[in-house]
Formats: sequence, C-alpha cells, structure tokens
Amino acid sequence: MSDLSLRDIKYLQGVGPQRAAVLEKELNIRSFKDLLYYFPYKYVDRSRLYYIHEIDGNMPYIQLRGQILSFETFGEGRQRRLVGHFSDGTGVVDLVWFQGLKFVEGKYKAHEPYIVFGKPTVFNGRINIAHPDIDPADELVLSNMGLQPYYNTTEKMKRSNLNSHAVEKLMKNLFAALQREVIEETLSPQLIEQHRLMPLSDALHNIHFPQNPDLLRRAQYRLKFEELFYVQLNILRYTLERRNKFRGLVFGTVGEIFHTFYEQNLPFQLTGAQKRVIKEMRRDMKSGRQMNRLLQGDVGSGKTLVALMTMLIALDNGYQACMMAPTEILANQHYETITRFLAGMPVRVELLTGNVKGKKRETILRDLVTGEVQILIGTHAVIEDTVNFSSLGLVVIDEQHRFGVAQRAKLWKKNTCPPHVLVMTATPIPRTLAMTLYGDLDVSVIDELPPGRKPIQTIHQFDNRRALLYAFIRKQLQEGRQAYIVYPLIQESEKMDIKNLEDGYLHVCEAFPEYKVSKVHGKMKAAEKDAEMQRFVENETQILVATTVIEVGVNVPNASVMVIENAERFGLSQLHQLRGRVGRGADQSYCILVTGYKLTEDTRKRIQIMVDTNDGFEIAEADLKLRGPGDLEGTQQSGVAFDLKIADIARDGQLLQYVREIAEHLLEADPQGTRPENAVVWQQLKELRKKNVNWAVIS
Ligand code: ADP
Ligand code: MG
Repeated sequence: MSDLSLRDIKYLQGVGPQRAAVLEKELNIRSFKDLLYYFPYKYVDRSRLYYIHEIDGNMPYIQLRGQILSFETFGEGRQRRLVGHFSDGTGVVDLVWFQGLKFVEGKYKAHEPYIVFGKPTVFNGRINIAHPDIDPADELVLSNMGLQPYYNTTEKMKRSNLNSHAVEKLMKNLFAALQREVIEETLSPQLIEQHRLMPLSDALHNIHFPQNPDLLRRAQYRLKFEELFYVQLNILRYTLERRNKFRGLVFGTVGEIFHTFYEQNLPFQLTGAQKRVIKEMRRDMKSGRQMNRLLQGDVGSGKTLVALMTMLIALDNGYQACMMAPTEILANQHYETITRFLAGMPVRVELLTGNVKGKKRETILRDLVTGEVQILIGTHAVIEDTVNFSSLGLVVIDEQHRFGVAQRAKLWKKNTCPPHVLVMTATPIPRTLAMTLYGDLDVSVIDELPPGRKPIQTIHQFDNRRALLYAFIRKQLQEGRQAYIVYPLIQESEKMDIKNLEDGYLHVCEAFPEYKVSKVHGKMKAAEKDAEMQRFVENETQILVATTVIEVGVNVPNASVMVIENAERFGLSQLHQLRGRVGRGADQSYCILVTGYKLTEDTRKRIQIMVDTNDGFEIAEADLKLRGPGDLEGTQQSGVAFDLKIADIARDGQLLQYVREIAEHLLEADPQGTRPENAVVWQQLKELRKKNVNWAVIS
C-alpha cells in the first residue's frame, strides 16, 4: 500500500489545499493512507427506528419516522430559530434549527414522510432535536443503513466545516477513489487462516462502514490483533537481537561477603518473596546473559534489602555495584540504611550526589577507578561522564519512572560488557502494560510484606468535618506519633499551589499550637527542602505539611497518619504511593482522604477502591481501567501505549497475551526472518520501525 501513503490528501475529492492543511495540522493526516487509518470512535445503529413515546432524554442518537406537522419561527435576528413540530403518531418532538433557516424551510415540506436522525434532549418537558439529519422516508432503505461512524474532530476542524459528518463523507470519497486499488495485506496468509482473521481490505472497509455489529466486531478484532501483534513482535525481536549482541558478566559464586552478611548482619528473617526474588536474580547473573530485571514490590515490601544483597553478590565476584535514586533525600536515605546494614563489614560504600564537592568528590572518583569504592550510591550524579568505575558489574535503579531510557543506556556504557541492571519500582505496572512497555525486561514481584505490619486503615472524610479530623490527628500526636498533611499540586498554576499550601500551613499551625510544623514543596531549594525533611525525620517537627514531593520512598517509621487534602485531585496510584509513607513501623497507621461533599462518579470509585484495598496491584489495574494507559505513571517516557490506534491496553489484555505467544512462536521458528511465508510480516515490521520512532528505543 506504499502508493497510498504517497498520495497527497489534498487531491482527494472534497479536500483541497485549505482542508488538507487543517487535516495535517489537527490530525497529522497527510496521505490517503493516513485518512484510511483514522478510525471512528463510536458507531450509531441506523437500522433501528424508535417511537417518540420511548424517548427518555438520556438517549444517544436515535432515528424516528413521521411527518412535520407545521413550522414556526421564534425570536429576532441572530436569536431567530426555526422549529418543525414532528410527530409519528405516538408523540411530538421539536426539530430545531438555529442556522440555515431559509434552506430548511425551502427543502422540507409539512405532511411528507421523513426519517429524522439526531440526539434528543428534553427541555422544559419538551423533546428537542437540534439540527437533525432528515431524509425522505421512501429513499432511505433502513436495512442498508448499517452503523454510522463517528469521528473525533477538533474545534479548528469544525471551523473549516470538517465535523464528523464531513469526515464520513471524505471517507466515502476515499473508498470510491480506491475501488481499483488493492489494499495490500499486512499479515501472512498463515496467520489470517489460522486465526480466522478478516482480510485487511475488508477490515478497513468495515471499520468505517460496518453493515452490522458482527462485521464491526470482526473488523475490530482483526485490526487490534495486527496492532498488538506487531508491538509484541517488535519488542521480542529487539530483545533477541540484544541478547545475541551482548554477553553478560558471569557471577558464578555467592561468596564470603554475602554469607557473612546473611549470617551475622541480617537483623531479621527474609520474607519468602524476598528469598525467591534474590534466587531469580542469582540465576540471571550467572547465566552468561545480561540481567535486565524489573522488581516490583509494594511500598514497604523490603526492596532495598533485596537490592543490597544482590549488590553483595556482585562484590563477591570482584565487581562494583552502583545504586541510583531519583532524589537527594532518597539517595541519602539509602546510603544510611545500607551503611547501617553493613556495619562492621569491610565493604567500602560511598555517597555521590550533586552536593558532594571538592576534595571529597575527588577522592570518591579516584577510588572508584581503582576499585576501592565497592558500592556507590547516588542520584543522577553517578551517571555523569566524569564518573568511571574499575569494573562495574551491577546497577540498581530505584523508582525507575523518574529515569529516562537514554539515562539507562548511558549506564550500560560504564563497562565494556554491560553491567547487570535491576530496576525497582513501587508503582506496580499491570502485567499487560509491562508487556507492552518493557517487553524485554524480566519481571520479579515481591508480593508479601514483612511480618507484623498492621494494614493501614484508610478513611474517607468530608472536608466540613475538620474538627473531627484534627481531634483524630491530635490523639495520634499525643501518643508520640507524627503526621503528614499533603496538598495537591495543580500543574497549571504553581502560584495557586503554593497559596493552597501556605494557607494550609498557617491553618495547621493555628490548629496545633503545641506542636512544631514543617513545610516542604517543590519550589524550595534542594538544600532547604532536605533540611526541613530532615527535621521531620528526626522528630524535631511532628507535622509535615507538603505537596507531593514526599511521594517517593521517604521512610519515617514513626509517622502514623497520612492526611491527603483534596484527595479528589489525585490519581489512584499517587494516592497509593502517598499512603505508603505510613504503616512502616509496628503501630497501626491511618490514611485519611479528605474531599468535598460533591463528588463525580469516577472520584467516588477511586476513593472507594482506596478504602477497600491496600493491594497495589489491584489498585494499578483499577487505575488503568479508570484512566487509560496514557495517563498512567511511568508510561510517559514511552510513547508506545499512546500510539495504539485501536487496541486498548486496559481492555485488550487477553488478546495481548494471546498475540504475544503467537509472536514468540513465529520468532522461534524463524529467528533470522528468512522464511518466505513470513516475508509479509518482516516487511511490515520494518515499515513500522521506520515510522514509529518510539519503537526503536524501547529498553
Ligand atoms: P520498599 O520496598 O518500599 O523500598 P524498604 O526497603 O524501605 O521498602 O523496606 C521497608 C522497611 O521494612 C525497612 O525498614 C526495612 O528494614 C524493613 N524490612 C525489609 N525486609 C524486612 C523483613 N524481611 N522483615 C522485617 N522487616 C523488613
Ligand atoms: Mg524503596
């Protein structure tokens, strides 16, 4: 179909240079092919008639058959409107026009049979249909009407008279123009036959103009199948290529450092999940392949310890290890935790952040090159070009969604043979999404919390019950605990944020005069912020008022209350992350979601899920369903989930799994892509890789 992508949309009947410019600007449609792949977002069944007495005001588009009894005009000048009183014998609706009045009056006659199509609204007890489509009843053969497509359009398009209806007309012109041309198939005959798929040209026709719901379903299935199949094939092929290209460092032994730590320093028993995950990584690291593992574990599941023990295996094999955190505070915290864990052991651990300067920095950099520094912990600073290792064997990346693909790639170059990579995240990525975004990462899951933790209690509170809320917080503070109070971040208005936070801060100071209150937000200088956080960590202050800057990783086991103001403004995974800041000690902890009284259906659902479950995976699945993959945290850096035209990661998870297996089989049978029967498939993959920049950089 290469010629269709070369045919300029400007030359399609009904387009021309002006509309072509609008189509390009608004929808990125430049060629016949681009338009062909602009799919409807919904369909309206036009084979069915309704009766007026059935209409209830909540209906989508409907179709009626009847007569216009009379016309009437109301208002003056620009306010003028024309009303046709229309009846089918079961009732009356008002057809209303605000534009083109003369044309309408000239065209449609009273007492002729018409079929009227539009969206009914009920106003003052009367049913209206504004600007309906009208056809003479005898000209319209309903059984041929099928489903009518609806296309998304923008304001600018509408100003060029390119509404959904107009796009539909262009689509008809397009199919008329294509009549003689063959739409080339993009899947192999085997795949089509084996999986009973509709051929591409039929599927494209039926996705725009389906005769009935069954044909529409088959067309959708074929197109989704193809879309997900190529996404998966691309990822799997890429992984295979990389595996063939890079060997992995072989960590053959688990030696003295690991064992000494395990026997003498480990302050508690590992959970079963921690043990299993460490085993999985041991297996990876001695396999001769580079490890690329994503470790998912809910907040508080003990990922840091797993990371440490994995690093010790690297050390036992004569390599260095490095751990990256997204913020200064977190890097500090990891450094402290890890040096505490390793107390008394002859392991040299250093911290490298932007704040480490001068002599200290020089010493660290020098001792990294000689190999004396065995574990380096830090922020982005560790991937700067000036940081060189003697033999870097393992890189741990904590809270990965703050790091871009490019940064990860940079790390790989720190050793001639790329180091093993462990990516850790507490933002659980649903399986289907992980398969699309990180198809080449192996996934380990810590699905068990250390024993003795009491599940956090989550409570929903309306904001007019503040006295009650403050009494509750006070009681916790009196027992020696600490509390977080979080305000939302409104990205469009930083000023408003700060004001929100400042007001809240003053309010809290007034309400709790007997306690000290800290305040932290993203606009503060890093050093100032860290100092203020540190005061809270050391219990110099009992309440921390903050924006979401505390979202990731901060560990203050003594804090037992997390209050989230305007909880309706937060997404589910963010609420879950924030909640994870408490419940880290042995005491009962609480998360209080404060909202206004009036809530949308979606918000009500979100809050309810939070109240009902502490399970991060359940929450991530629910989040994906409520918001769609484009919004999900951690997906911004990879455009793949957005690029999908028809498949939906949230809803088509099963199909994704199915086509992944098909892609795996195909690759197994034909790893070099040389079998003639698969030529179509490899050719198509090549085309897609050329066009989708995102496809080439997944890692
Ligand atoms: P996260 O997975 O959120 O990064 P951390 O690694 O910060 O969790 O661990 C949370 C807390 O649980 C830490 O105080 C850690 O020392 C403790 N912890 C980790 N593993 C265990 C275990 N097996 N038994 C008891 N406590 C543990
Ligand atoms: Mg952590």
